[in-house]
Amino acid sequence: MREGQVEAGRMSVSVAEARELILGSIAPLGTETVALGEAGGRVLAEEVRSTVWIPPLDNSAMDGYAVRAEDTAGAPVTLAVGEDLPAGKRSQRKLVPGEAARIMTGAALPEGADAVVMVEDTETEGGRVRIHKAASLGQHVRRAGEDVRPGTPIAPPGAVLRPPLVGMLAALGRAVVAVRARPRVAVLATGDELVEPDRLRDDGRIASSNSWALCAALREIGAEPVYLGIAPDEPAEIEARFRAALACDAVISSGGVSVGDRDWIKQVLVGLGGEMRLWRVAMRPGAPLAFVRVGGKPVFGLPGNPVSTYVTFEQFVRPSLLRMMGHTNVYRPVASARFDAEYKKPAGRAHFVRVVLETRAGELWARESGAQGSNILLSLVGADGLAFVPAETTRLERGERVAVQLLRDGSLAAEPGF
Ligand code: AMP
Ligand code: MG
Repeated sequence: MREGQVEAGRMSVSVAEARELILGSIAPLGTETVALGEAGGRVLAEEVRSTVWIPPLDNSAMDGYAVRAEDTAGAPVTLAVGEDLPAGKRSQRKLVPGEAARIMTGAALPEGADAVVMVEDTETEGGRVRIHKAASLGQHVRRAGEDVRPGTPIAPPGAVLRPPLVGMLAALGRAVVAVRARPRVAVLATGDELVEPDRLRDDGRIASSNSWALCAALREIGAEPVYLGIAPDEPAEIEARFRAALACDAVISSGGVSVGDRDWIKQVLVGLGGEMRLWRVAMRPGAPLAFVRVGGKPVFGLPGNPVSTYVTFEQFVRPSLLRMMGHTNVYRPVASARFDAEYKKPAGRAHFVRVVLETRAGELWARESGAQGSNILLSLVGADGLAFVPAETTRLERGERVAVQLLRDGSLAAEPGF
């Protein structure tokens, strides 16, 4: 079938239309309560406001002496030393004029004190202390509530629980927090030619690489893969696997979704009562892509070629699952880079070109990471990103700017950078 023809009443849709159609039908999952130790990376499902004062009391920012600032006005001066206040000890009495209290960082200021002189600016003289420099009012004092107070907004629903937020929740005295559930996602491979990696023999069959890439991709975003193995190209067998898969929150299959004689996925899903929302997307790699809702569950029938599988996962499945997990920012970052070669293609389909990124003379350049066939996995292994060449574009001049979707999650730098 040629590009743009109608199949089962459906035209091939653009990448943007497919994205809108798929993501528009995806809602966040329910919420659950987790212990703080499990909260990192999850998405907040409640609004958090402070209920406490942090710090709870005025306290010292330095090791030194708590004083009444006015007593030090004529520095150098000598003051009597009353109490000794390590962190965690509360003062028992009010500081009287002419007196200082020895105080450690984090200890609450005694009543009457309004400044701290750091130990470096003092000298002990028997039971007394010599203050070398006059203290200003409030010097080295951390005020009660200067971080947060009851009612201070901390984070809205949808915030990602990055480590500082987890720390803040602990500081607020929270032991548990409401977060969005994480989807359990069934991963199913289909194809008579496929074997498990440990069964790879010299018999012409190939390992089901897609399932493993997909499981890793799911883990990368914190979704839970449920591995369903390899179904042969038999409708009854595929149907049985899908029935099991539908116990999960979402289903991803690969292969069997094209127009081959033994491509059963669409037929089976429709037989299961599925509503076909989408089939063809005008993109390369990855044109055949079935998005079906079966009993309210999203089912992604991804194409079988390993690069098509991964590229369509990246464009449509990953953002959908992130949305199910409550994320509001669901897309990979995109960089603008100059394309390193001339590139020609027919109009009609958008191309996702596997590229390596390099900075040359302060400019970001994208060059092809290798051969671009949808079966060539190695050039995907080496790619930093996918350069997007729009459907209507027929030619890129060398040096022309392209949008590159950055694929390396949480990538690390070789140099410290400062
Ligand atoms: P299909 O759409 O089922 O015709 O598959 C297209 C191509 O992708 C064929 O060459 C398949 O052998 C290959 N393929 C399908 N599923 C997988 C898989 N799980 N892992 C690796 N290659 C696959
Ligand atoms: Mg197949």
